[in-house]
Amino acid sequence: MPDRDRRTVRDLRRGNRSGLLRHLYFEGPLSRQELSQDTGLSPASVSNVVGELLGAGIVTEAGAVESDGGRPRILLKVDPGHAHLVGVDVGETRVRVELFDLGLAELAKAEYPLTPGDYAVEPIVGHILAGLDAVVAESRADPATVIGVGVGVPGTVEQGPEVLVHGQTIGWDAVPLGRLLGAGTSFPLFIDNGATTLGQAELWFGAGRGASNAVVALIGSGVGASIIADGAPYRGASSSAGEWGHTVVRVGGRRCRCGALGCLEAYVGAEAVIERYGKEVAPDEETVLEALIKTAECEPEARRVLEETALYLGAGISDLINLFNPERIILGGWAGLLLGGRLLPEIRAAAAAYTLRHPFEQTTIELCHLGPDAVAMGAATLPLAHFLATGGAPEPSPRARVRAGGAVRASTRVTHGLTNS
Ligand SMILES: [Zn+2]
Repeated sequence: MPDRDRRTVRDLRRGNRSGLLRHLYFEGPLSRQELSQDTGLSPASVSNVVGELLGAGIVTEAGAVESDGGRPRILLKVDPGHAHLVGVDVGETRVRVELFDLGLAELAKAEYPLTPGDYAVEPIVGHILAGLDAVVAESRADPATVIGVGVGVPGTVEQGPEVLVHGQTIGWDAVPLGRLLGAGTSFPLFIDNGATTLGQAELWFGAGRGASNAVVALIGSGVGASIIADGAPYRGASSSAGEWGHTVVRVGGRRCRCGALGCLEAYVGAEAVIERYGKEVAPDEETVLEALIKTAECEPEARRVLEETALYLGAGISDLINLFNPERIILGGWAGLLLGGRLLPEIRAAAAAYTLRHPFEQTTIELCHLGPDAVAMGAATLPLAHFLATGGAPEPSPRARVRAGGAVRASTRVTHGLTNS
């Protein structure tokens, strides 16, 4: 069985390389000795892997630190300029395309407004492809260094042999988005739900850093959630888990955009809050909701609508805590940040009133750190996750590929289970 043995050794080496790269990415700069201590790999194995990563240009030296008595230790970090990533946010009001370096610093951005209520697939595909050309040109990045394009979309993304998007509230019925985009670009594509991608960004770089069990609750016009269980996104049988907005808070209640009655989204989504106040929903919901929050300082009816919103939101959050026992609930999305910025104490109080005491005491409820526009950055974490999981290995084929989202274990903690080789 020499073949099997060789494969096993190769797999171990790949696992070591991936684990070390991931640790260095999130915790670096680190010395070889620290890498050995943190990962449990022997100094010789670390030296081998680091040699490979330096040789490939993925890792670079980042100065030196004094060591007690001995020679100064060289620090290492992942070179942010080694590769580029693109993130695409297909939102309710616009398509945004952003190009990042490997450290997720934004280098270029393109934006295409959408007419609210009009989500025809073909123009959106056109915007994304035009945006790819635009950001590559603006950043002057060598296209060969773009290691992938992450796309965050509304709705459920079914990751089968063909990636299909089921966006019931925007009229997308099994849209083969991967195939449509793949016809116009040769960059590797990674497609996932926008809330899931933002959840991954918050978990890695924002309010969720260090948590293994968290829920990122997102409120815009619509309402969704990204559930992180044991460091990885929880998806369910066909990737639709996290449709928190369509859990029922009032049997027989207001009509939701999905057609059902009494969904959470029909009470706390931006559109719903504005309608409950008796206002017309204007194209610029953000301005209208901001004005409503300001009005509530002196007008009882606006205040009543907001207080009721805090109750529904708290009740919805209590469902998340009772079901998933998270360490953290992270509230975001543009409307979530507006409402949470004004109502967080009331939301916490309502959640406390509806949640079992013990799990509530284990949970904090806080606001997203990355701001409301981080979906494109979140989408860029999809190719980044692939890069880290494969140890930064080059792609085997230059043809267009579509991969399952970023369902890669997202823990930023010390990587265990590495094996010396
Ligand atoms: Zn609904």
